[in-house]
Amino acid sequence: MSDSFRLSEEQELFRDTVRRLAEERIAPRAAEIDETDEFPWDIHALLAQNELMGVGYPEEFGGSGGPIEFAIMVEEIARVSASASLIPLVSRLGAIPLFIAGSDAQRKEILTAVVRGERQMAYALTEPEAGSDAAAMRTRGARDEGGWALSGTKRFISNAGIADTYTLFAVTDPEGKRGRNISAFIVRSGEPGFSLGRTEHKMGIRGGPTREVILDGYHASADDLIGKENEGFTYAMRTLDFSRPTVAAQALGIAQGAFDFALQYSRERKQFNQPIAEFQGIQFMFADMAMQIEAARLLVYKAATMVAAKDPSVSYWAAIAKCYASDTAMSVTTDAVQILGGYGYVKEYPVERMMRDAKITQIYEGTNQIQRFVIGRQLTRSGRPR
Ligand SMILES: Cc1cc2nc3c(=O)[nH]c(=O)nc-3n(C[C@H](O)[C@H](O)[C@H](O)COP(=O)(O)OP(=O)(O)OC[C@H]3O[C@@H](n4cnc5c(N)ncnc54)[C@H](O)[C@@H]3O)c2cc1C
Repeated sequence: MSDSFRLSEEQELFRDTVRRLAEERIAPRAAEIDETDEFPWDIHALLAQNELMGVGYPEEFGGSGGPIEFAIMVEEIARVSASASLIPLVSRLGAIPLFIAGSDAQRKEILTAVVRGERQMAYALTEPEAGSDAAAMRTRGARDEGGWALSGTKRFISNAGIADTYTLFAVTDPEGKRGRNISAFIVRSGEPGFSLGRTEHKMGIRGGPTREVILDGYHASADDLIGKENEGFTYAMRTLDFSRPTVAAQALGIAQGAFDFALQYSRERKQFNQPIAEFQGIQFMFADMAMQIEAARLLVYKAATMVAAKDPSVSYWAAIAKCYASDTAMSVTTDAVQILGGYGYVKEYPVERMMRDAKITQIYEGTNQIQRFVIGRQLTRSGRPR
């Protein structure tokens, strides 16, 4: 993005391309994905065929584009199906620890395969007793012959079961300082000691699997350690800084999709002998929705720009973008349901699905209370970052 707060011509063209694909090939599947709650392998194949699984990955591994292009793509896919937008989003969340600290061999092996659509990734941080307080995790990595034996349960893991490669965090120095005692590992499904636990049945983002990952004496070799021993928690938090703008983009897409549908509907639906779009009460709702969406979009690009620049203030901007865009998604989708009246509340129309999908964006990758904590701590301790 240039200083003029406009996307480049190439970026706008890229948006048009993704929008066309999303409208033609993903939108017709969106209600079915929600209804069946089955992972849409066909959409993963579609994204890979169109080289979209490589957006936001380094060129040396077959990727293209950076954080802004990735945000544009996620927004456009989420505009028609939040569940489908999770396909590139979650794999990249799992891959970011490798961007940050992976070895050349790890990156080459794994990222190349993800870009080609041959592998999918997941990010396993949360545990039953360690959600917002992730440093309280209990999964343990104990030294064994040639590496570590990993044991513990990770909960709410997106892509669990369909991903074959996980970045997983475990305590490797139980006596060590909190947050300085955790290491990051590559974990592969199908190996001894790896199993899946319960499947969550969710309000929204159905079709995006969320399951427990259980490790029981899983052997991670020395080559499976990501970066330095006991530095894993830093990588985990940095990963969230880099990924939150993408959740913000997903929320923005959900909001835009609900807005677009409600606007069109309001022009067609007549009551009191006129389109409901003519009522000032409805127009003011659209004005408020549009203001929130436009502000959220600027914040998404601002945060993505900070990620691209590896700016020291990235935590602050990522938290602001994620929190504001997800609050926008919740508020805009709720208003879209209201604008459709009774028709908004039934499954024949997509806005009730969008409202259900919006809710998770206020919860995952750190709840919005945690985002406000990150923003508030920055401001009160060090002031607004430049
Ligand atoms: C569908 C789904 C997908 C997910 N995907 C992944 C994934 O792929 N990988 C992964 O590792 N995790 C994943 N998560 C986990 C998610 O990030 C956590 O659910 C989230 O961080 C909150 O943790 P918790 O659910 O344990 O809530 P808790 O931490 O128990 O929080 C409960 C409430 O207390 C509030 N709270 C907690 N601490 C504070 C505080 N200090 N100040 C103020 N309020 C506070 C919270 O905001 C919340 O409202 C996923 C969750 C879901 C539901």
